[in-house]
Amino acid sequence: MIIAIVGAGLAGLTAGKILAQKGHEVIVLEKSRGFGGRLSTRYAGKDLDVKLDHGTPYLEANGESFQLFINELVDKGVLAPWTDSFGFHNEEGFFESHPSREMKTVYAAPNGMNSVGKYLSRWVDVRNNTHVSGITMVAPGSKWKRPWILNMTDSSVLEADALILATPAIQASGLLQTAQDETPVRALHALTSTIKYDATFTMMLGYGEMDIPGWKGVYCQNDVIGFISNESSKRNNQELTIVAQTNKQFSYTYRDVDPAVVKTRMSDALSQILGKWAGVPKWSQLHFWRYAHASNSLKQHFLESSQEEAPLAIIGDYLGGNSMESAYVSGLKLAEYWSEKLSVK
Ligand SMILES: Cc1cc2nc3c(=O)[nH]c(=O)nc-3n(C[C@H](O)[C@H](O)[C@H](O)COP(=O)(O)OP(=O)(O)OC[C@H]3O[C@@H](n4cnc5c(N)ncnc54)[C@H](O)[C@@H]3O)c2cc1C
Repeated sequence: MIIAIVGAGLAGLTAGKILAQKGHEVIVLEKSRGFGGRLSTRYAGKDLDVKLDHGTPYLEANGESFQLFINELVDKGVLAPWTDSFGFHNEEGFFESHPSREMKTVYAAPNGMNSVGKYLSRWVDVRNNTHVSGITMVAPGSKWKRPWILNMTDSSVLEADALILATPAIQASGLLQTAQDETPVRALHALTSTIKYDATFTMMLGYGEMDIPGWKGVYCQNDVIGFISNESSKRNNQELTIVAQTNKQFSYTYRDVDPAVVKTRMSDALSQILGKWAGVPKWSQLHFWRYAHASNSLKQHFLESSQEEAPLAIIGDYLGGNSMESAYVSGLKLAEYWSEKLSVK
């Protein structure tokens, strides 16, 4: 059976790995050239030779299954324990440890967060730079052999026996809208279209060769910055590098503002939090994540269409939570269920 998965993020690749291990042919279609979706790494700096995590900065588990997955990644050398304490900054100053955050070990990827996606992609056929623009459920008696046709923006098509949409809800909702006017698909569209997202700006900054600060990350309470990650403490970057994320309110207010203005506001805030040096980097790069965090979620771990002849499921971080852990659990739960239901004879 060919299972097509749209989206090579944590949810899609987790489901893909398990279904491939059960004997299915899994094809993952990914519009970008990377693996891991929002678990992402950029080459930045003047010579584009410095790796920085400009999406999720670290992994942490609350539940058992995600902790087991993290342990597997640590065993394989993909992750390493990063810290068990973050700093905190507010109008009263800088604190070595967060006053209210319950701390446990969090994990970083020495070779970049996208190595998590690369690790998971070994079991499946990932087709990068492949943007799915529409899905069609094939009518009985048509010339197509399989119940799903996926249309790409480059006009190519893929036939599949089962389909999983593992994109942010907004994109899943858009794809569901392109399907024929089938009632079960419409029901899924109605559910996914209720999900909203918060945006985030991330700024990657390099300071040349400087002493690396002792803190690994700092949670901040101010008008601009929400979190600062000390990227140099994750890997042997030759220079001091940090990634700063803006908070929800700033990201919303500045979403359509000139990026140069955003950078200035962020640099000014960094110099207030960390010291003057932080506002005068040798280089910096800004990225805008329009769909960084789901601001609401659905309680189910996955959604499934009731049409048995054309299996279709939806997974992602907004199902059963709104975090990287819920993305993983969503992919895992669907794959366990479909492993039984679509078992290879
Ligand atoms: C800056 C930042 C910081 C974050 N910090 C944290 C944190 O501290 N803790 C936490 O729990 N979470 C955090 N998150 C959120 C976390 O990264 C996500 O919840 C999780 O990675 C989502 O995984 P996913 O597989 O559901 O979706 P994604 O990672 O978004 O994967 C979906 C994939 O689908 C692809 N795609 C979309 N549409 C199409 C299409 N039409 N055709 C082909 N491919 C398509 C996308 O390119 C993407 O690769 C952060 C996110 C960001 C951006």
